[in-house]
Amino acid sequence: KKGPKITKDRANRATVEQVLDPRTMRFLTKLINKGVINGINGCISTGKEANVYQADHEGNDGTKREFAVKIFKTSILVFKDRERYVDGEFRFRNLKNQSNPRKMVKLWAEKEFRNLKRIFLSGIPCPEPIDLRSHVLVMEFLTKGNGQPSPKLRDHPFRDIDEIVHYYHQMLFYMRRMYRDCRLVHADLSEYNSIVHNDKLYIIDVSQSVEPEHPMSLDFLRMDIKNVNDFFSKKKINVYPERLIFKYITESNEKLNIVDNTDESLSKYLETLPLKGDDEDNEDEVQDEIFRSLHLVRLLNALDERDFQKFREGKLDTLTDLVPEKRSRRIPKTIDGALAEEAEDDTDEDEGSETGSDED
Ligand code: ADP
Ligand code: MG
Repeated sequence: KKGPKITKDRANRATVEQVLDPRTMRFLTKLINKGVINGINGCISTGKEANVYQADHEGNDGTKREFAVKIFKTSILVFKDRERYVDGEFRFRNLKNQSNPRKMVKLWAEKEFRNLKRIFLSGIPCPEPIDLRSHVLVMEFLTKGNGQPSPKLRDHPFRDIDEIVHYYHQMLFYMRRMYRDCRLVHADLSEYNSIVHNDKLYIIDVSQSVEPEHPMSLDFLRMDIKNVNDFFSKKKINVYPERLIFKYITESNEKLNIVDNTDESLSKYLETLPLKGDDEDNEDEVQDEIFRSLHLVRLLNALDERDFQKFREGKLDTLTDLVPEKRSRRIPKTIDGALAEEAEDDTDEDEGSETGSDED
């Protein structure tokens, strides 16, 4: 019996699972030779999709800076999960390399770099993008200067309730600016992917962010809103209803009667919104459940081009339009169902179908 032949190709494929494989080392060497970084120091984070390292930089004039080097991993499991983010997005639609792990990591790194640039250029706090070599991305290191990264929102020691409310508003503000100014939905926003640095909230981890034209962008946006609300609710502040946040993020100043884009005007608008009550029978929670159920529905046929077209034509631009202001407890199973129910003059007596967990 012959044993398995270890070809050169097979050996390479095995090492590629580890982050610092010879190929990665070659890109790091290039970055060092170019003077972008002096070398790689400690590991800040090991994740499913990437590892992040700290690196020092010394400019020609001797000025020192600290950079973060994010090295994307070649792991097939991750891409399965991520394909939906790429499908349908114009910027990357014609890149049909989705079966090649090396090209895929390169694509994700490239997406993160472009998205970071866009966010950075529009003045929303995020690490400054510095350089990109294949799947190796160099950016500003958010640090207090002690070699340690600034804390994630999750780990930030809040002083008091006012500070929690302040960061909640800031998060919603940046979500709106990302959507309206950068034309991006983060799509993985949470207390883990935002950092408190220099008294501001910084947005990180944007490789999966999508443009509003992406057929699932609004679903991702609703997930982001829910994650943000869940975190701040746990911090014991009153949050706004999810569907009103959705409106705040997506709709124009004119539509919301916001006079200009200053922090003051935008905060003032938020303060006019009703907060979600904390009693369990609250109508706001019922409506938010309906709102979330529409999200499940759109995940099912999210890549439906006709839906996408409707959205582009403005017919589906605010999914909140599908949610009637006054609602019974029934949760529609499909978008069609939601529309039909809306057309119906519904009564509270008959309980509608329930959303099955098999839908997700
Ligand atoms: P992953 O895909 O692994 O979640 P992230 O971009 O979220 O990758 O980075 C992982 C962790 O590394 C973050 O949660 C954060 O703590 C830290 N980190 C990432 N980028 C920076 C940065 N520019 N400055 C400081 N810390 C960072
Ligand atoms: Mg992350």
